[in-house]
Amino acid sequence: MDRKLLSIIISVYNEEKALEGFFNAFNSISPSFSWDYELLFVNDGSSDESLALLRKYADSNPKAKVISFSRNFGHEAAMIAGIDNANGDGLICMDADLQHPLECITEIIKKFEDGFDVISMVRKQNKSAGFMKNITSTAFYKVINMLSNQAKFEENASDFFGISRTVADVLKNNYRESVRFLRGYVQSVGFKKTTLEYIAADRFAGNSHYSIRKLIKFSINTIVCFSDFPLKTGIYAGVVSAAIGILVLIYSLFTHKGAPDGYTTLITFNSFMFAILFAVIGIIGQYISVLFSEIKSRPIYLIQEKINFDN
Ligand code: UDP
Ligand code: MG
Repeated sequence: MDRKLLSIIISVYNEEKALEGFFNAFNSISPSFSWDYELLFVNDGSSDESLALLRKYADSNPKAKVISFSRNFGHEAAMIAGIDNANGDGLICMDADLQHPLECITEIIKKFEDGFDVISMVRKQNKSAGFMKNITSTAFYKVINMLSNQAKFEENASDFFGISRTVADVLKNNYRESVRFLRGYVQSVGFKKTTLEYIAADRFAGNSHYSIRKLIKFSINTIVCFSDFPLKTGIYAGVVSAAIGILVLIYSLFTHKGAPDGYTTLITFNSFMFAILFAVIGIIGQYISVLFSEIKSRPIYLIQEKINFDN
């Protein structure tokens, strides 16, 4: 029987300090895999010695492949390039800094064998992240889950996940937006899903590449990707202004003693103009929201299985 192939995708950005440790850890664990494997490194425009180290490793291990970007395109782009170029029956995305324990690979393979398509690795605790990062990440998932009706995201899901060939093909063919949130797509495509817990280790060496600025940009992108709520605020503002206009009108009509001439007219006129303005903005927002989802051309549906279609 042919052994199944596992593609392990590793994004690498200025990881010269961590790579040696990764290679050693990987070499000692890979003989225990029950599947054959390919190791796919995506060098995301590193400016240090990472690429040279990867080249050297690829010389010693024919199962290691390297894709090298022309510049830094970001972690997500690196994972997508990995998914596009992977040949495996099952794919795993993970980090180069050994924060995602290599021991989990065996468990993920088991889940693939049980027929799961999406295996989200959920962080049990993130030792190195610190209090602030844990709080903000929890808050972030709360907000996005509230705003988005398209998907419910696993809190504490990470950039560590396994996907089957089927899901990889879906991501490859249907999720090509350039403003994107891969983790979100992985969780929203459906299919047979499961989660595994892992304890995030401390970064092996070097520093995290996610600055607060990058994280804020990332959060905004995610909300924009998965929710059109912000576009609808115009309509809500319109309704609120109209209500205020009516209240002020009633109030002023009955108690206009002491108010200067024209006061009621002015205030009412003002509120109603704002109501119209906001409503029009809201309507435009609605159209933009439709335009936006058309541009993204996400699939209208995804089929998991078809029965008796052969003849
Ligand atoms: N990474 C990348 N491109 C980037 C930033 C990071 O490919 O622009 C890689 C990095 O080499 C690592 C993984 O993405 O393998 C996660 O990055 P990092 O460890 O810095 O993030 P953290 O674990 O602190 O969230
Ligand atoms: Mg890390």
